[in-house]
Amino acid sequence: MTSRVLPLPVEELLEAIAAEITFCPRCRLSKTRKKAVPGAGGAQSRVMLVGEGPRRNEDLEGKPFVGQAGRFLDALLTEAGLTRKQVFICNLVRCRPPENRDPLPDEIEACTPYLNRQIALIKPKVIVSLGKHSTAYMLSKARLRFNSIVRARGKFYEIRLWGMQITIFPTFHPAAALYNGKCRDRLVEDFRLLGKELVRIGIVEQ
Ligand code: SF4
Repeated sequence: MTSRVLPLPVEELLEAIAAEITFCPRCRLSKTRKKAVPGAGGAQSRVMLVGEGPRRNEDLEGKPFVGQAGRFLDALLTEAGLTRKQVFICNLVRCRPPENRDPLPDEIEACTPYLNRQIALIKPKVIVSLGKHSTAYMLSKARLRFNSIVRARGKFYEIRLWGMQITIFPTFHPAAALYNGKCRDRLVEDFRLLGKELVRIGIVEQ
């Protein structure tokens, strides 16, 4: 009698990736992190949010978007008609760059296979890229040119990625807007626009 090996459910595969990230030694950020931040959210999430890298509070707690920027992100999600439970939130790099510096190209290269694997499993309809680095990375996947987050923000980019049709929606990083009123207003504007699009494509009820 032959036994058939059943594929693992997506939840288990996501947990396996999270476990890999927790102990990942692939780049120099593993030497200075307190806790790696694998990401949080359900396997059924239709919307993914991709930030840049963990900051101090995330590094301490091992969770994405906690503290002041996290509270602001929650308010932005409300503007779009979403809650945290409905989205998967993660970062381009999963360990904190010291002093909140930008992630370096080799760190992004080492870490983004995790993001790619999570996207391939979750199959989101919409990816909100928060900040210039995550936007540059996501647009590069569709060979789209990225000049600046100011120009790219607030627009919907339809791309094909690993056989899936995905909408990329770039905007500013919530942490960058905490002390910048203009940036804050634009983020609110962008999340309201996102909410309208999510209603139009049936992800959020009116
Ligand atoms: S940043 Fe990414 S690649 Fe580097 S050690 Fe952390 S999890 Fe691994």
